This record gives sequence, structure tokens and C-alpha cells, in this order.
Amino acid sequence: MDTFMKLDIYGSEDDLKIAENEICHLDRLLDTTNENSDIYKLNETGSATLNDDFAKVLGESLELCAELDGYLDISIYPVVEEWGFISRDYKVPDHKRLLKLLKNVNYKKISLDGGTAELPEGMRLDLGAVAKGFAADRVISVLSQRGVKSGILNLGGTVAAIGDKPSSKAWKIGICDPENTASYFGSVQCRDKIVATSGSYERYFEENGKRYCHIIDPKTGMPVDNGTVSVTVISDSGIKSDALSTALFVMGLDRAREYWKSNGGDFDFVLLNESGELYITEGIADDFKLSESYDFEMNILK
Ligand code: AMP
Ligand code: MG
Repeated sequence: MDTFMKLDIYGSEDDLKIAENEICHLDRLLDTTNENSDIYKLNETGSATLNDDFAKVLGESLELCAELDGYLDISIYPVVEEWGFISRDYKVPDHKRLLKLLKNVNYKKISLDGGTAELPEGMRLDLGAVAKGFAADRVISVLSQRGVKSGILNLGGTVAAIGDKPSSKAWKIGICDPENTASYFGSVQCRDKIVATSGSYERYFEENGKRYCHIIDPKTGMPVDNGTVSVTVISDSGIKSDALSTALFVMGLDRAREYWKSNGGDFDFVLLNESGELYITEGIADDFKLSESYDFEMNILK
């Protein structure tokens, strides 16, 4: 999953090993750059009988793409690649080339029937926006079956709080300062939640004084440039928090707020924009704390 992960659990070495194995198993299925991965094979051949776990994560991802009205689209991969975010050989693509690639971006054209998936010619998938969240769900599930009741899993920016701290206090999860990723501008207190952050600071390049980030608007093929700097989503499901943090980042504040309202507030989010304004949904407002020395303007969304 191309990131650092840190698992802290109150359990045994075996519990930890099993959690690690589960993540490595999913990584082997979902790494688009590994020729032996299931996703690589599907992308190459356009048709494959899937491993059960791959079928499950693909099915859940497709539901989320539909639920999020295409702001999340797992078929965006060729566009992400064209911008150089896979090879890290960054470039601003030719406009015509981008339009051509966009013709093959549409999650609705992915067929998943039982365990068999088919892609139209030219389409390729990337579950990078949801994989860490799905992995969090899986690790939580295996650990819970083994009786682990407390822990904190940091899967590269997607953080799962399992239960409480052993002291019975809620876990406190920091949200990265985009300008200085070694610091946290704030933290949320939570238990049994998954906290996922998407930010333009995570991967980007600059050309002619303009910054291009790794999160792409599937409707235009362009890196998102709507004033949002970071979005953190807090919910009961890892894949949902991960999918939503990416999609709400693409939506920007107004649409994100509408989406949150229309879903009856069954998740919460913290959105930071480039003017230093912070928007926090009311469900998490009491559990959010701004770090000392940050003077962001706080707005509670109701
Ligand atoms: P995340 O860090 O979870 O926000 O996921 C970002 C990654 O998902 C990017 O590095 C791309 O590989 C991919 N991606 C970028 N934009 C989108 C999008 N609109 N929908 C789905 N995946 C995307
Ligand atoms: Mg995500």
C-alpha cells in the first residue's frame, strides 16, 4: 500500500503477526504495480475470476462509488498514472490525451458478477483510495475474533481506534498539519472508530508555480484545486471513512456539507481549507481539540 504502518495492540505477539499477515495478504491482492497481484492481472487481461477477498473489496468499493456519485471512481487509475503519480515522473498531461483517457473512467462500466469481474477495453482499476480502510476493517475483525479489545492501528493515515485505551479513556488521534506533517493541528477523541485523512500535501508536484495534488476530480481528470487542504472522516467503517475522505476532498466544502446532511450525519468530518478555516461537523465537535499554537478559525457544521 506504499506507506508506513504502525500497529499497537494490547494482545500477544501472535495477534500482531496475524494482523500483519492480513495486511500483507491484501497488499498482494491490491498492489497495481506488482505483476503477481490480482488487480494487476485484472487490469492486464480485462477479465478475471477473483479471489474472495478481492471480490469483496471490489464489491464494497463499487457500492461506495455509486453512493458518492462518482466523486470516488476506482477506474481513475490511467489518469492518475498520466499525471505521473504512479511512476513519480510527474508531468502536466496534454489536454487531448486527458480527454481520451477520461472516456474510460466510469465505475458503472465495471461488471462484477459473483466472483468474476470484467472491465471494458482500456479501463484499469486502482483501489488506493479505499484499500487502507478495508485493511483496517479486516484487521479489526481478525483481532476482535482473537479477543483483542484495545489498540490503535495507523495504516498510513487511516487510523483505527479499537475500544478504549487500557486506562478506559478514549484514544486521541492527531490530524496532520499539512504545512508540517511532523505536527498535529488538532486531535479527535474516539473509541471504536476509523479516522481517515486525505490531503493535498500527501503527494503533489509543482510546475510553473502551480501545485498539482494526487487526488483527481473524475469529472475533469484534473487534480483537485477547490481550496481544500485536508479532509478527515470519522465513522464506524474503515472502507467508508477512507472512501469518504477522498470523495469529500474532491467535493469541496459545500457539497461535502450537503452530502453529510443528506446522510443524517452518520459520519463526521473535519475539513481544513487553504485560508486556515476549519469546518467540523457537530457530532465530533466536543471531541475535537485544536492543538496549542494553532489559530485556525473553527466553524461547527449543523
Ligand atoms: P486517499 O489517500 O485515500 O485519499 O487516496 C488517494 C489515492 O486514490 C490517489 O493516490 C490515487 O491513487 C487514487 N485517487 C485519486 N483520485 C481519486 C478519485 N477521485 N477516486 C478514486 N481514487 C482516486
Ligand atoms: Mg481515501
